[in-house]
Amino acid sequence: MTETDYKDLAELLFKGEELKTPDEYEALYPYRKLGNKAEVTRLAPSPTGYIHLGNLYSALADERIAHTKDGVFFLRIEDTDAKRKVDGAVELVIEALSYFGIEFDEGAGLPEDDPANIYGPYTQSERVSIYHTYAKKLVEEGRAYPCFATEEELAKIREIQEKNNELTGYYGKYAVSRNLELDEIKKNLEEGRPYVIRLRSEGSPDKEFEFEDEIKKKVKLPENIHDVVLLKKDGIPTYHFAHVVDDHLMRTTLVLRGGEWLASLPIHIELFKALGWKHPKYAHTAHMMKIDEETGGKRKLSKRKDPEMGLSFYKEAGFHPECIKIYLMTLLNSNFEEWHKQNPGKPLEEFPFSVKHMNNSGALFDIDKLENICKNELSQMGVVELYTFLAGWAHEYEPAKKKVWFADENKFTDILMLLMGYGQKRRRKDLINAKQTFEQMAIFFNEFMPEREEFPVDDKTVVSVLKDYLTSYDYNDTNAEWFDKLGVIAMTNGFATDRKAYKEEPEKYKGDITTVATIVRIAVTGRSNTPDLWSINQILGLQTMVDRVEKVIRELEA
Ligand code: GLU
Repeated sequence: MTETDYKDLAELLFKGEELKTPDEYEALYPYRKLGNKAEVTRLAPSPTGYIHLGNLYSALADERIAHTKDGVFFLRIEDTDAKRKVDGAVELVIEALSYFGIEFDEGAGLPEDDPANIYGPYTQSERVSIYHTYAKKLVEEGRAYPCFATEEELAKIREIQEKNNELTGYYGKYAVSRNLELDEIKKNLEEGRPYVIRLRSEGSPDKEFEFEDEIKKKVKLPENIHDVVLLKKDGIPTYHFAHVVDDHLMRTTLVLRGGEWLASLPIHIELFKALGWKHPKYAHTAHMMKIDEETGGKRKLSKRKDPEMGLSFYKEAGFHPECIKIYLMTLLNSNFEEWHKQNPGKPLEEFPFSVKHMNNSGALFDIDKLENICKNELSQMGVVELYTFLAGWAHEYEPAKKKVWFADENKFTDILMLLMGYGQKRRRKDLINAKQTFEQMAIFFNEFMPEREEFPVDDKTVVSVLKDYLTSYDYNDTNAEWFDKLGVIAMTNGFATDRKAYKEEPEKYKGDITTVATIVRIAVTGRSNTPDLWSINQILGLQTMVDRVEKVIRELEA
């Protein structure tokens, strides 16, 4: 085909479409005026309505990279695969990320007339004419062509390639449509034969090129030789083509995406070149891994098998979003943990996040580590902040119980302060998430009292200890006075008042003072392990405590 043929072909293929020119688009979407270190990043999910930990991991990296240097972070919806579309998915993505304090500067979901949205539309299905402009340009220049191969023909090619142990795909001598003459193409079009538009690849099968990935560093990749599809039969672009056009026109400077895309990077590089554009920087992230419980080996976190991959897992359990973020930051940037330790209380936004420090070898998800971070963070949180968070969670997930928990705001605050170890030498680190916090709190509410644990001694001794306890108890006693009285009860009931005495002659005693405390503890709370018992009594109030102990005595005497 001659140059004129290419032009005629382009006119023919896009006949009747009113398309802007590439120059018009360049003018419409000017380069952004940002500082020279500022990065423009984007999250580009398909609208499946499911957003997982891996997405959050990437989104946090994107957001941090953009916002530590006054850049831009935007949301693009990649909906060229209609099968995966779910109603309301865009709102779901925005909401899910907003829960973690991750906000977009521009993009899908913002009101259409928002002044920030000058690089839109941000939904690929609304950009079809833009892709056609560039597909047409490539056809005009002989870099793209219509391919009429049927599914059967493609399957046949594949069969031959497999038999010959060759690379499968539409390339080189197998790409027969690339050599069609204009007349043949015209005839096919007249016959109404369906076609796709393919890139005419100029890559060579034995050439490699070196690429500097922002995370993987230097990688060697083979040149692309595939005549990949740019526009599908219905004129909708493939991911490859749409991503290249979009990231150019939206002036993305850094594409951070899943490592699974690295293999198709040669296609994207060739496309950028064919279109005469500079490609953005790329950062291919490591996949999230976990230790498989059965095999003990590392494996990829899976959407299907692992509930902890879904973000709803964390919301439902009431993990504080800040803790999740801190955890992800430790996975994302190897130097974050140290920084966080040295700067306790500093907002993580002040950490100098850098793509250069991103993990290259598979981020290992470890729920124990996450829980430890939660324990630390929650223990340092302000009571008001934690109160508000718990109330919000209860409102959404346990509205009926919320009425009981929060009926007396002062009592709730007192419980919280006790569980956090407020006013004590060292803060307690007991709280992990909302659900587990309310489980810990169950002992303060008659409605939610846990099943009573076994007493460590026989019923008769228990009853005797408890009766003495009630007789001697005075709500106004200090912690020390209260404890002294336990000593007396121990003595009169055959327990040693100190551990040492008991250890030396265990046969002489039924136990020591800690056993006495445990008896009272179980009677009052149902549990053998709780925060400070004197404080629990104070919070419960005299009547509730007495009622509980009397109930146990009645039961054991029955
Ligand atoms: N839509 C692609 C995905 O969900 C986006 C990849 C990219 O960020 O370019 O995997």
